[in-house]
Parts: sequence; C-alpha cells; structure tokens
Amino acid sequence: MEIVEQFVKSNPCYKAKTKIEVKGLMLHSVGCPQSRAEVFVKRFDNSNAKVCVHAFIDADTGIVFQTLPWDYWAWHCGGSGNRTHIGVEMCEPSCIRYTGGSTFQCSDEEKARTMVKRTLDSAAVLFATLCREYQLDPLKDGIIISHKEGHDRGIASGHADPDHLFRQLHMNYTMDHFRAEVASAMTKL
Ligand SMILES: [Zn+2]
Repeated sequence: MEIVEQFVKSNPCYKAKTKIEVKGLMLHSVGCPQSRAEVFVKRFDNSNAKVCVHAFIDADTGIVFQTLPWDYWAWHCGGSGNRTHIGVEMCEPSCIRYTGGSTFQCSDEEKARTMVKRTLDSAAVLFATLCREYQLDPLKDGIIISHKEGHDRGIASGHADPDHLFRQLHMNYTMDHFRAEVASAMTKL
C-alpha cells in the first residue's frame, strides 16, 4: 500500500486545522464513475469546497492520496461522525453509470469488481495501519463503519456508499468481510 501525501491546502478543512480525537474510521466511495484519485484531489484543493475527506484511493492503481492530516476535522459524512471518524473515499469504476440515487448500471462487471477489490485491498491495509496508530480494535462495534452504516447509526447523512457497490456488482462482500480483512492485515504489519 503506497501513500502519497497531497494535502489540499486551499480547502477550508485544511485551513481550519481543527483536531479531532480519532475514535473510528469511515469507509466511503465517491458515488460517481471516476477511478482517478488525482481528479478529486485537484477538485477538493479549493477554498470554496464545502466538503473534504482524509484520503482518496485510486481505483486504477490502489494508491492512497492523503489529502488531510489524519486527525484534522473533515466534513466527509454530513453528521456527528465527522467529529469522531477519519473519512476515506474509494474511487469508483469508470465503467458504471448512475441511473438515479445509488442505483447504477455497469458495462463490465468483471472489470468493476476488480477495481473495487483493488481499492478495498488498499483500504484494508490503510485502516490496519490507522487502527494501530490510534489503538483501535477493527472488530469492535462502531469503530470501522461504512457511510451507510454511519447513517443507520444516526451519525451520518443518508448515503448508501460503499455497500451499494458490493450489492449491485454481486460481490458477495459486506462490511463484515472488510472488518475481518483489516484485522487480518493488522497481524501482518
Ligand atoms: Zn460517503
């Protein structure tokens, strides 16, 4: 897992430099068919940006682009989770087309699954590293959650990511699988 530090220094979240006490990690996906992390990094490095996350994971390479120091307050989930959870976005396959809300069509499911798995693999190692740094138990309730799970828990806005990818791409994969992968990755650090 490669991390490229590319802080979005024009973003209000970077400028505010407000620190949070990290109590968990939230996994997102970008919600549009853009696989390249650098596109988002560029877009978020803007003084008019209304949102920000701590990192984007490129779906073509699996490279992590860190956009904020991990303990900065970031506006990534539209709820109180912003005060407790680091937010990481996985880029999404370029071969999907959203048809409304979180529903999409996919022209090449095999390719899309490979890309999603690539971002998940990087995310698992990144989250393992962060769990060790902040002494978090990845399997404990509420520590590692998706944006969707954050919404279900009342600490994030009504988004379906990234669980909607797993379901619609028929991946037979859930956030429980992801949490288990993070725990497994911690033993290999
Ligand atoms: Zn999200």
